[in-house]
Amino acid sequence: MLQTTQLRDIPRVTLIKGSKIHENVQVLTGYCPSCNTKYFADHEHVLQPNNKHTKVYLNSAKYLKVGQSLWVDRVFSNTVLNGMYSFHASASAFTEFWNNSFWSVHSGDAKKITRRQIWQSFVQESIRSIAAVSNINVELQDGLAIDDVTKEAFSLLGENGII
Ligand SMILES: [Zn+2]
Repeated sequence: MLQTTQLRDIPRVTLIKGSKIHENVQVLTGYCPSCNTKYFADHEHVLQPNNKHTKVYLNSAKYLKVGQSLWVDRVFSNTVLNGMYSFHASASAFTEFWNNSFWSVHSGDAKKITRRQIWQSFVQESIRSIAAVSNINVELQDGLAIDDVTKEAFSLLGENGII
């Protein structure tokens, strides 16, 4: 297993763990030269025999990528999911609640979380928790926009799955 990124190119991102914001966190990517699989913290990038790539959404992921340079842990993504279900909160309501409660007491330079990142957390967490109950790791074509991810995940998990 190799480390794909040159030392100087290793991305530095913001990571939310629970209710705490951590800045300048390094993200490493592993690479297996014999099967060309790339190992990211939240998914695997697999080269298929037809030369196309698929993305395997790991149910066991500890962290989820929810924006260009924002990662969250599963405590955070579960908080989003539970907040939306228990309080019937919209993504915008949850965003405002979270920024007022937690971002406001953070002393660094991190930007406020956006509605889109909260929505991304909701979708990413839903896919993994539902797939885990169905005993599969969702595998989709790589490079899909978030709305297509939602559609494709529903067609995999919805019909004969538990949705
Ligand atoms: Zn391999």
